[in-house]
Amino acid sequence: MLKCKQIVAQASEYIDGDMGLLQKFRFQFHLAMCVHCRRFVKNFTAGIEMIKRLPYDDVSQEQIDCVHRRIAQSKHSR
Ligand SMILES: [Zn+2]
Repeated sequence: MLKCKQIVAQASEYIDGDMGLLQKFRFQFHLAMCVHCRRFVKNFTAGIEMIKRLPYDDVSQEQIDCVHRRIAQSKHSR
C-alpha cells in the first residue's frame, strides 16, 4: 500500500489525470482506507479549483506551483 507521503507527492498528478491505471488504482485504494489523505486530496483539489476560478489570466505557472507546494506542506505536514 502507498504511504501517505506518496499520496501527497502524487496528488497533483492524480488530479491532473496524469497517472497510469495501476498507479491510480493504488492511489484510490489508499484514499478509501485513509481519511487523512481523503481530506488532503479534497483540500488540494479545492485549492486548484480556486486558482482556476481567479478572475484574471496572468497567473504564471510558477505561482500555481507555489500554491500547490504550500497546500501540500500545510495540509499534510505530519
Ligand atoms: Zn494516507
